[in-house]
Amino acid sequence: MTVIQGRNYINGEWRDASETFESVNPSDIRETVGVFPASGKAEADEAIAAASAAFPSWKRLSRINRGEIIDNFAQLLKRDRDELIQLCAREVGKQWNESYADVIEAIHMTQFVAGYARQPNGFVVPSEIPAKDAYIIRKPKGVTVCIAPWNFPVAIPLWEVLPAVLEGNTCVLKPSPYSSACGYKLAQLLDEAGFPKGVVNVIHGGGPDCGEVLTHHPDTRLILFTGSFAVGQSIQQFVATDPTKFAACELGGKNQLLVLDDANMDIAIPAAVMSAYKTSGQRCVSVGRILVDRTREAEFTERFLDASQRLRIGNAMDRDVFTGPLVNEQGREKFERHNARAREEGFEVLLDGGRLTGGEHEHGYFVSPFVYRGEYRDDSWVLNEEAFSPHVAILPVDGLDEAIRIHNEVPYGLAAAVITEDYRKWRECREELEVGLLYVNLPSIGAEVHLPFGGMKRSGNGHPGAATLIDYVTHRTAFTVNHDHEIKMAQGLSAEL
Ligand code: NAD
Repeated sequence: MTVIQGRNYINGEWRDASETFESVNPSDIRETVGVFPASGKAEADEAIAAASAAFPSWKRLSRINRGEIIDNFAQLLKRDRDELIQLCAREVGKQWNESYADVIEAIHMTQFVAGYARQPNGFVVPSEIPAKDAYIIRKPKGVTVCIAPWNFPVAIPLWEVLPAVLEGNTCVLKPSPYSSACGYKLAQLLDEAGFPKGVVNVIHGGGPDCGEVLTHHPDTRLILFTGSFAVGQSIQQFVATDPTKFAACELGGKNQLLVLDDANMDIAIPAAVMSAYKTSGQRCVSVGRILVDRTREAEFTERFLDASQRLRIGNAMDRDVFTGPLVNEQGREKFERHNARAREEGFEVLLDGGRLTGGEHEHGYFVSPFVYRGEYRDDSWVLNEEAFSPHVAILPVDGLDEAIRIHNEVPYGLAAAVITEDYRKWRECREELEVGLLYVNLPSIGAEVHLPFGGMKRSGNGHPGAATLIDYVTHRTAFTVNHDHEIKMAQGLSAEL
């Protein structure tokens, strides 16, 4: 297949950098997917300057006109849907059906944001003084840096960029270096959609050399970050030193499935398999801990292990496999580190997954599931850290109260799923579980774009992404007009001179 020669998209122009890096196909690392500019300070400065210059006229354009350009972009995503699906599967190793869902999610997000252009962008609010009209209007924050992870290479960059530009901000997007070809394709479509020059800029590069320069730039007002806890924490620490900057951070998870005593196992098993193994466990909402009521543990475990052993793992472009490889060698080493720690901490290994080699797996980062069990311990490292791989703990629990307590001891709070037939139990979970996304009789994955997407605790700083980000990318401004012939003040304040 052709090697993509990617370029930066700055101020409506295609530009190179002095250094380059490659992205490879994780299903077969002999294949280079593309070569991209390794951007540094010079490129980051140029991109921020372009976004700053474009801001005054972009924010003055009508919101409806901005939405129309986003609608053009939706048409282009639809036109090139199949190319995007292929690219996603090839570059990040998301199995074909999952790549399909990623692109469809991107289209849904784009449609949602384009349609939102015609929604109110403020409110009329009552005043104590009858002749006063008071309004809340929303204004853009300014130059916005969007930093995206590799695992939703089409949808997540658009969750960030589109709400920001709809509301009149201008952007610099830095995709993950592991999904640069997808980011480059998005840049081409954004260009074709007709955004004025400088409104959206897309530059490629690594975290410290490029991402950090963008987030630390003095002209950056807003940072929309999705990625790991460690990087999100460093961004939040930096933003805390500069009160003119804002950051919305969507971070990792150690998500849990609760299988209660009355669970329907015909739902629990597919929910567990999808939650733990879709994208090879590399979703922020992937399940790493399954809390099973002790009375159902034997039955659940037997069926879950059977299903885990029957997964078809192979080339992500193959429509018949269930899941593809891990994204890179670091991901595979992290998986192995977690597996080793589970052993060291004394857990019983039920399924000793590891590297898959030979045959169709020979040249990719393939692994098979690792499943272990044991009594819950709050001092366990492995039960508390995100593994981002098919690494799953089964933990027996005695009843709903214990399940909720153990669930909430994890430092993350992104997604959970509960399997029960009892409305009182799921209602209790809804009230008590510390998560941003809760599913009942479903897997922990599969969010839709018009719902808030975001977590609590280490999983996010409370500005959920996707549709609800529209609120965060604006300032709410109070605007009050007097229609009387004299000044009358609220709160009994005298206007006498
Ligand atoms: P990552 O944190 O390693 O990288 C994310 C992005 O940040 C990349 O573009 C990277 O180049 C950039 N980056 C790295 N260091 C940086 C720095 N110092 N300054 C600025 N940018 C920097 O994450 P990843 O491996 O790409 O993605 C996996 C992680 O993302 C997992 O932890 C997963 O749970 C999380 N994730 C969260 C959500 C969510 O919505 N909560 C969604 C998807 C993925």
